Amino acid sequence: MLKTHNCGELRLSHAGQEVSLAGWVHRRRDHGGLIFIDLRDRSGLVQITVQPGRGEAHSVAEKARGEFVLKLDGVVRPRPENLVNPNLPTGEIEVLADSIEILNPAKAPPIPLDDDGYRTDEGQRLKYRYLDLRRARLQENIILRHKTIKFIRDYLDRLGFLEIETPMMIKSTPEGARDYVVPSRLQPGRFFALPQSPQQLKQLLMVAGYERYFQIARCMRDEDLRGDRQPEFTQLDLEMSFVDRDDVLAVVEGLVTALIPVVTPHKRIFEPFPRLSYAEAMARFGTDKPDLRFGMGIVDITDTLRRSEARVFAEPIASGGTVRAIVAPSSAGSSRKEVDTMTDLVKAAGAKAMATLAWTAEGVKGTAAKLLKDSEVSEIVRRLEAKQGDLACMVAGRADVASKALGALRLDFRDRLNLAPPDLLAFAWVIDFPMFEWDEEEKHWSFIHHPFTMPKQEHLDILETDPGAVLSDAYDLVCNGYELSSGSIRIHRRDIQARIFRSLGYSDEEAYRRFGHMLDAFEYGAPPHGGMAPGIDRLIMLLADEPNIREVIAFPKTASAADLMFDAPSELDPKHLRELHLQILE
Ligand code: ASP
Repeated sequence: MLKTHNCGELRLSHAGQEVSLAGWVHRRRDHGGLIFIDLRDRSGLVQITVQPGRGEAHSVAEKARGEFVLKLDGVVRPRPENLVNPNLPTGEIEVLADSIEILNPAKAPPIPLDDDGYRTDEGQRLKYRYLDLRRARLQENIILRHKTIKFIRDYLDRLGFLEIETPMMIKSTPEGARDYVVPSRLQPGRFFALPQSPQQLKQLLMVAGYERYFQIARCMRDEDLRGDRQPEFTQLDLEMSFVDRDDVLAVVEGLVTALIPVVTPHKRIFEPFPRLSYAEAMARFGTDKPDLRFGMGIVDITDTLRRSEARVFAEPIASGGTVRAIVAPSSAGSSRKEVDTMTDLVKAAGAKAMATLAWTAEGVKGTAAKLLKDSEVSEIVRRLEAKQGDLACMVAGRADVASKALGALRLDFRDRLNLAPPDLLAFAWVIDFPMFEWDEEEKHWSFIHHPFTMPKQEHLDILETDPGAVLSDAYDLVCNGYELSSGSIRIHRRDIQARIFRSLGYSDEEAYRRFGHMLDAFEYGAPPHGGMAPGIDRLIMLLADEPNIREVIAFPKTASAADLMFDAPSELDPKHLRELHLQILE
């Protein structure tokens, strides 16, 4: 052992003790003879004092620079009262060095390491990730991640779940993205697919009788990346047999509710998690992942304006549309520029226009004030519970378009007015998702969750005749405007699974070629089962208050799915390509 103690753990109680320490030079200050080194290891920092006249130790300390790796022996001593640093856990002591050895020198790091790193070019940070990871913020994130995963493992173990690994090289298991593929050398022209999730494998584990499974599972999806996505990411994948929806929700809600106070005690959550149907979430928040840290729900005021003479409202209503509104403080839309920006926003979300009503000290103002009768305005006040100082933003048109536009506006108000309390984690369940959505490009129905999701029992009759109306037993866990997890009760009967594949446009032969193993398995006593898969990266991102998941993944990829540290993906040499029976087309 090169060290007897960890730097960050030394306290006043160690005073007088001889210690051996090893770590990195965080900072070094030369006070004309007296040299101070902040020595850092994983546990934190401690101040090393090297006095002149300490022979060898002093001349070594003179050579040391930032990020040099040192080993040293010394004695812990209390700092003089006026030099105590209350901001540092080791601030009451210092270590007087007797001998210092340089274990490895270091070049000056290409990126600064003693700040939070947010202002440093991310490309450089990712290229030198092994240095970037040294900064305290990232280290805390990685530790939080470890603690969270450890908690999850222990919690689920207590509930009788088994952690079971599943293969990385399989056949396509669709979750709505493209597959990453691995060419087979031994079977020319054939490919493995990397799992988009262990979905089918966990279902087959249920067929195999394991009843409660989980895995900290890596998923690979080749898709166009957005801020909170990665081509490979980690899920807490779980599956249970002989359960209905509420059993699965209870396990995950119990886990999350128990986890938060342990790993992030400063965070608040609502208990129990509110539940919204998909239809309700879309109508009231214009999204299936509502941010419930603040109110400002969308209200339908169609009935109030059904007989209005104002054409901007009457015409869309007459053609089957709605008028919907949200209420914000009038100060948020008082300038011309603010109103223009809001109008641009609702237009970008598909709406034709936005109308406003503002209740000011000088009476009712806003673009709709002149168009509406007093009785209509008073009815709107009643419906929206508006008071002086409020601003109503109204959008007329197709119900989904109006809600989507107002949903976007709602988030704009959130950001401009800081409506979301930073310590709140507003978890909620979104349930009763539709089974299918119409794929305009492919001209057939496609799945919303994945093709193994059970349609609601009472909708099995209309599966073929009215697919758009079929609801499924799928559910999402959302938090602060993010989708944290999807799950569902699964199909466990071959006949229903076959009907779903047909509804998705697969011929029976095609369905069997792709998913024969599932169809066959369902004929050998498959139990009813269901599960879900919370995203670990997103969860840690929210717990750590980070702006994106790359900050909580040790070695993440860029938005263009590249690894800058390895410079991957990289080319294969021609010999390797030949072995894999591959040819690159320019
Ligand atoms: N496999 C699903 C997903 O990755 C989760 C689930 O249904 O359990 O979203």
